[in-house]
Amino acid sequence: EVPSILKPFEEHNVWLIFTKVDRKSPLRTKFRKLIINMLNVSSVPLKFNIITDLSSKEIAEQEISDIILNTNKLLPYSIYDFDLCAIKIKNIVDVMTPHFSSRPGSYYSSALFYLSLGLHRIAPENQEKAIMLDCDLYFKDDVALLFKEFYHFKPTALFGLAPELTTVYLHILQSFRKSNKNSTFGNYYHENDISGNSVHPKGFQGYNSGVLLLNLKKIRNSKEYNEILSKQSVDGMAEKYKFRGHLGDQDFFTLMGYEHPDLIQTIHCGFNRQLCTFWRDHGYQKVFKDYARCNHSTVVLHGNCNTKIPTN
Ligand code: UDP
Ligand code: MN
Repeated sequence: EVPSILKPFEEHNVWLIFTKVDRKSPLRTKFRKLIINMLNVSSVPLKFNIITDLSSKEIAEQEISDIILNTNKLLPYSIYDFDLCAIKIKNIVDVMTPHFSSRPGSYYSSALFYLSLGLHRIAPENQEKAIMLDCDLYFKDDVALLFKEFYHFKPTALFGLAPELTTVYLHILQSFRKSNKNSTFGNYYHENDISGNSVHPKGFQGYNSGVLLLNLKKIRNSKEYNEILSKQSVDGMAEKYKFRGHLGDQDFFTLMGYEHPDLIQTIHCGFNRQLCTFWRDHGYQKVFKDYARCNHSTVVLHGNCNTKIPTN
């Protein structure tokens, strides 16, 4: 059942990661702009949950108090210490880094890219749902639209993600696809494949994790998800698809999309309209537009790979 308005007393929890920031770092500006933007366009009150390290914390709190002063809006937030969070997800990071980190040795910096996979251990027990966002985003429409997507989840879905809009997984699956000519994984998707289908009959581009919906309650209770996170399972999936990634959690979500599609709800591309064109200029010029195509109206623009976001 989809209510026409969200429950008025339900908390709308948004999670942001803000680490390794110094005074002049571009992430500082992205963080400020995103929060102001979200306060401006959201029809529901938001609660911010910010994961930050010791040196970035001061800058985060400075930005937040400036925003409160300048906008005169309520801005409830909680701060979570990155080091404590990293400890809580250590076993997950150890399993993931050999397959999905560009520099598998650097454990500390790696943990940051896997926090989403263990957010159910980090978030307070009473948070049943949450949305985790990159800082390089711009909302063109109401934040509540994203929260409303939870009501469209199939009963088995733990996570909601929008498609990756580049050829990165076509690239990563090159070797697998040579010996599996009929596989649709890595192909671009067709609009009418998305809705309601938990399998990917014609094409599946993988997922982008810059906008992530988490049904924390279901994740905490899912025995299956915990088994999928095990070393045996992740090594097995990486081996099967000859998969060597570098994009952290979203590589894992993409593999989950291949092997356990019932656990992920595909939300439409307008919820994470990525702007990075790196792959267009690196060997995939001809097909890039097929992957980047998005016919849905844009709710969120994602200036990934440091792409400037046009905000008019
Ligand atoms: N991030 C961070 N510190 C860093 C790099 C990244 O806190 O030094 C966080 C930040 O929230 C950022 C997210 O990780 O939005 C993902 O990084 P980014 O958006 O730059 O990756 P892309 O979308 O370009 O792949
Ligand atoms: Mn991003």
